[in-house]
Amino acid sequence: MEIKNGIVTRLDGIKIIQHLIPISNTLARPQYPMIPEYITIHNTGNPGASALANSMYVDNVDTYKSWHFTVGSNEVYQELPITESAWHAGDGKTGTGNRKSIGIEIAEVDGAEGTAIRFVAQLVNATKIKIENIVPHQRWSGKYCPRLILPHWDKFIENIQKEMESDNMTVQEAEKIIQEKAGLDNNTMQYLRFYRFSDALLIKLAIAMNKLNQA
Ligand SMILES: [Zn+2]
Repeated sequence: MEIKNGIVTRLDGIKIIQHLIPISNTLARPQYPMIPEYITIHNTGNPGASALANSMYVDNVDTYKSWHFTVGSNEVYQELPITESAWHAGDGKTGTGNRKSIGIEIAEVDGAEGTAIRFVAQLVNATKIKIENIVPHQRWSGKYCPRLILPHWDKFIENIQKEMESDNMTVQEAEKIIQEKAGLDNNTMQYLRFYRFSDALLIKLAIAMNKLNQA
């Protein structure tokens, strides 16, 4: 992931689409400067509605309602720069949820939770926000949100952590670990590369080997 001036310019393996709320919509986009310390997770509460439909909706709301990203099956829409506050946490005009957290709405469509896990992992690595500061909307206002994820919240966070490890590891690091831990010679490593083990697979293998060794 690459972020420039609060705008995500590159995501790994997920499509990012800029769909910013117009500056003229001052209710949804007050342009309060923000240094994000939290990531707040939501479900749209709108079964079957696509990320695009939710994104179109927030462009035109005429009330204090907005968020930063809408996550779909394999794409993410950015609604606001992460350097501006949004109205999504339900904790008031000066609340920490609204003023210091990145709001992520996960569409209620197939695959969106998996995309969110991969997206949030990259976002945490890029912003250095603490993993314990990934919180459900419920934390700020008591609302039962994200309703599809709350029943397995701990698992959701665990999956983000796993994804962060592989997002952080380079393929060179992965090759080194595999070679050392499995005691492979250079010819065998060449053979692995020749058979085009994908980078992602090499990294997953290295992480598994690391864990094996710790056990
Ligand atoms: Zn919510």
